[in-house]
Order: sequence, then structure tokens, then C-alpha cells
Amino acid sequence: MGKSIAINAGSSTLKFKLFEMPNEKLLALGAIERIGLGNSDVEIKYGDGKKYTDTLDIKNHDEAIQLLLDKLISLKILESFDEITGVGHRVVAGGEYFTDSVIIDDKTLQEIESLREFAPLHEPANVLGIKAFKKILPDVISVAVFDTSFHTTLPEVNYMYSLPYEYYEKHKARKYGAHGTSYRYVSQRAADMLGKPLEDLKLVVLHLGAGASIDAIKDGKSYDTSMGFSPVAGITMATRSGDVDPSVLQYVMDKENITNFDDMIDILNHKSGLIGISGVSADMREVEEAQTENHRAHLARDMFMNRVVRYIGSYVAEMGGIDALVFTAGIGENSITLRQELTDQLSYFGIKVDSEKNNIRGVERDISTNDATVKTLLIPTDEELMIVRDIERLRK
Ligand code: AMP
Repeated sequence: MGKSIAINAGSSTLKFKLFEMPNEKLLALGAIERIGLGNSDVEIKYGDGKKYTDTLDIKNHDEAIQLLLDKLISLKILESFDEITGVGHRVVAGGEYFTDSVIIDDKTLQEIESLREFAPLHEPANVLGIKAFKKILPDVISVAVFDTSFHTTLPEVNYMYSLPYEYYEKHKARKYGAHGTSYRYVSQRAADMLGKPLEDLKLVVLHLGAGASIDAIKDGKSYDTSMGFSPVAGITMATRSGDVDPSVLQYVMDKENITNFDDMIDILNHKSGLIGISGVSADMREVEEAQTENHRAHLARDMFMNRVVRYIGSYVAEMGGIDALVFTAGIGENSITLRQELTDQLSYFGIKVDSEKNNIRGVERDISTNDATVKTLLIPTDEELMIVRDIERLRK
């Protein structure tokens, strides 16, 4: 039996989950935050409710990974590095090139590096993580799992923007989507719960976390998705705007003397969405708490719900029906009231949620009423499990 580790490296963060494989037992999980920013926080949860935390200066991803591996030994989660038989890395952008996860060799690493322009905020950090692990564990198989691969099945009609065609031909400017690993996991679980082949189902999956998106799944494949060329498109998110008319950006840049488009993109990514509208918080829990007394918090939540409903409606129309609606990720798994209010608005589709079954957080469950013609499912996502499963699949 081996142990596989799933890694999600951001510019200043490193999150991990360690599993015993192939029995998929979760052994440890945790995160290192503020890498390179001073006072880095380390947290590792393991065993029966044990937790290790520390704050120290970690200069870069190499140091973070060495520290993490050393801690896995000193906390006796591992006896030696030899027990690690696979490392899987979440990679944000795979472009049109990576239609599935891959074993990382020099050529694939070069390809991943060449996709930097598609995710300038994330791809460099993903590459740092890959290289750091390769340095410390050179003989262990490492696999890249792309957020975009699941969406490489989108039909042309859905991935193209109505821009001059040459921008696609010359530069591959198109919709790529994100959260594909989550959709892959959740859609298969939905098919298992419904006892039908995924290929026979029309699903709308709501991945509602800090980053949030919606996916239409038809014939077992991603058919349309709300994120676009980058994750900023689609529905209102914690700090991202979702869809906006580009002309309003030009207008605001003029009025606010914003001369660099990068600064505007930064506002769209980090200062918009729930935090931008409410002025209270990017966290849905705090927005929900504030909404009775604060108009802007109320508006932010209403806008979030409205955009979700809008996308569900258009995806049902595009697919010509829906068999099941699926809630996942932080907000989808935990906000009981949001699930109830949202599904109440969708009763004309035959969607009906049983308020007692819905009164639960983070547990896999069919929450529909018995007479609902469209099922509503709550399925906690597990992207890291999907990553380590991919290691097993690809090593064969
Ligand atoms: P994720 O990105 O999937 O980890 O989701 C994180 C987000 O889930 C947080 O920022 C919160 O906005 C949201 N969340 C977590 N718990 C709750 C809850 N009980 N009610 C509403 N939102 C929640």
C-alpha cells in the first residue's frame, strides 16, 4: 500500500491532503499560508482529531515543501519519504492541449509553463510546486490534474466568444472554464446516487464556494460552464465580479483615472462580487448575518442568487431539460437557507426540496421531496480525492 499526496499550490499558499492508497483513507490534510510574506502559518490535521500549528518564516515553495515533508515524518504520519508513491498537482490552466490529467515529465512541464498566459496569477505557482516536489522526491511519479480538462468537451458553439474568429485561430481566445476536477467528482457521485449511467443524465452542478461556477453536464460531458477564458466570468463570487459589460470597465477606468488594464482586472478579481457590493464581507456567512439590517449585504446575496438562477435557467434551456440539480462547495454544502430559497424559485422546473432533509451541512444526501420530478442533491466535493485517484489510474 502506498501513500499519495494531492497538492494545491497558490502564489503564497500550499494546501495538501495525504491519502493511503488504494483504499483512499485520508491520513492528513493542511495548509501553509503566507509563504514568502513573513509569519507563515502552518496547519496540519491528522490522526483522530490531532492538529499541529506553527508560525514561522518560510521564504519560498521549496522551503514550504521540505518543511511539510519533514513534519509528516516528525509527527509520525509517515515513517520515511519512501512511503510516498505519488504526488498529484492541481494545475489551473491546461488550455486546449491537456484534455486529461498527465504524468509530468520534462515535455509536459514545458507545455504547462507555456500556458502561463492563460492563468498568469496561478500557473507560475503551480509550476513552483511541481518543481519543488521533483527536486525533493525525484523518483516519485507526479501527475498534473487540470481544472480545465473536464471542459475540453464543450461544443464549439459554447466555447467560442462572438469576437472576430481570427482571435481564436491566432491566439486560442475562448472559454476554458474551471473547477473541472470538482465537476468530475460530483457528477460521478450524482450518477451513483441516482443509480443511472452519467451518460443518460442532464445535470446542472452548482459549485458555490469563494470561487463559484455552474456547469451543465450532458451525455456524461461538460456541455457549458459559467467561467470563461478566466475564472472571473460567470456568477457573482466572493471577490470576483462575474459577467460584466466590458464598456462599463472603460467608462469606470476613465472616471477613476485607472490607466492600467491590469489594475482593472485586479478590481474585478479581488474587490468585486460579495465584498464589492456589500462592503461587509467576501464570506457568505457574514453577508447572510448582515443582510437583515444592511441593504447592501441583502442586495449582494440577492444578486448572487439571481445570477445562479439565471444560469440554471439558461442551462436547462440549452440542454432541453434537467434530471438533477447538484449543490457543492462551501456555500452550496453549508448554506441551508440559500439552498432552500434558491430551489423555491425553481419549482416550475419540478425542483422541490424537503426542508427537513435540507436541514444539514456537508453530508451527501438527496434533499428532494418525494414528488419532485427533478432531483436535488447535496454532494460535498473532493477535488483532492479525484487527484489521487488520477495518480492510480495513470500509473497503470
Ligand atoms: P470554498 O471556496 O468551497 O472553500 O467555500 C468557502 C466559502 O463557503 C466561504 O467563504 C463561505 O462564504 C462559504 N460558507 C462556508 N460555510 C458557510 C455557511 N454555513 N453558510 C454560508 N456560507 C458558508
